[in-house]
Amino acid sequence: MNAEIISVGTELLMGQTLNTDAQYLAQKLSELGINLYYQTTVGDNPGRLKQTFLHAFSRSDVVITTGGLGPTEDDLTKETIADALGIKMVLHEESRRRIKEFFGKTGLVPPVSNFKQAVMPAGAVVIKNDQGTAPGCIIEKDGKSIVILPGPPRELIPMFEADVMPYLDARSGRVIASRVLHIFGLGESLIEERIIDIVQAQTNPTIAPYAALTEVALRITASCRKGEDPRPLIRPVEEEIRSRLGDHVYGADDDTMEKVAARLLIEKRMKLAVAESCTGGMVTSRLVDVPGISASLVCGIVAYDDSVKTGLLGVPEAVIREYGAVSAETAEAMAKGALKICTADISLATTGIAGPSGGTAEKPVGLVYCGLATGYGIFVKQLQFSGDREKIRMRASMYVLDMLRRELLGIRQL
Ligand code: ATP
Ligand code: MG
Repeated sequence: MNAEIISVGTELLMGQTLNTDAQYLAQKLSELGINLYYQTTVGDNPGRLKQTFLHAFSRSDVVITTGGLGPTEDDLTKETIADALGIKMVLHEESRRRIKEFFGKTGLVPPVSNFKQAVMPAGAVVIKNDQGTAPGCIIEKDGKSIVILPGPPRELIPMFEADVMPYLDARSGRVIASRVLHIFGLGESLIEERIIDIVQAQTNPTIAPYAALTEVALRITASCRKGEDPRPLIRPVEEEIRSRLGDHVYGADDDTMEKVAARLLIEKRMKLAVAESCTGGMVTSRLVDVPGISASLVCGIVAYDDSVKTGLLGVPEAVIREYGAVSAETAEAMAKGALKICTADISLATTGIAGPSGGTAEKPVGLVYCGLATGYGIFVKQLQFSGDREKIRMRASMYVLDMLRRELLGIRQL
């Protein structure tokens, strides 16, 4: 089943309103496993709308329109489509009553023009609008469907979810399922290089990468007939991708780095201590988001000022004097100190320059040292992150949590 969207509104063409309805509908159609082949935007002009509609109707099974259901003269979507299909417009009594009630609640008398919104194409299934006065409708003609929705997103979204989605779902006869793989430590282009042949060879499932701030996600989406199981389509593709990307794949679906790391910690009954400077508690906070972490997390120390690094964590003053607070030596001593004072099995440390000021030629903004200590040894990594203060802190937090994951899995560090 293939669909297309017609967005009606001169304000969309003029750039006054961003077409978020089309984005929303496109995402929903993809979730429903319905192919979306065209999106058109047309102004409030009956001639051009009619032409656009007839073209869409000739080539698509489902045409969805948004906008132009208002009470004013220039709101013409229903009328124009009914005209194009040779369908009469008739008063829909229930909608008239609802419009009256809608105004009743506000204590206002509805302007006559609003009753225009209750006039619907004959035989259409009316979609009620709880957020406004413009009902939508579904027209079926020649085995095809036309779905007419109002423009305001706060009206369109609930109407689509309550009535249109179940309708389309029942019509499409297909289901789709997807699996998301979370990847850390490999950029989007490197990932693509490694799997491009799989991506290009696949039509079902499809594979779509998208880059987030600190990771890349790969969505594998399979479509099959209702009643069939889509998982056997996904599984071999997932396995092949995993074999290409190795331990960079840290989780799937709802996994986050902190969930994966916390799960491992709890499973292995390991006690963790965290000492943070530039991340300012972000690492600890992310771990605390995971229920059950109290079994493993002993403490998170935000050792921001040098006096706390030395006084509480026991970083030697000489280390800070000689190498600076942002140095591999300080990160190492912070990790060591946290491990000791919390009697933990494993500890993490971060120290860096989050910016925007404080950078030098030698130690630029974004320079971060991440440390990890256990009873058996210490590992420190020097990193150079880009972005603003928030991004640098998020990237550093992600990195040090991945160090923890790698240590707990006994796999090589990046
Ligand atoms: P109304 O009853 O409010 O007149 P309508 O169905 O006639 O609704 P329009 O007149 O086309 O819809 O648009 C009303 C408002 O809805 C616009 O000013 C805009 O804020 C929003 N809107 C319309 N179309 C879109 C769209 N495609 N994406 C996002 N917002 C939209
Ligand atoms: Mg309008």
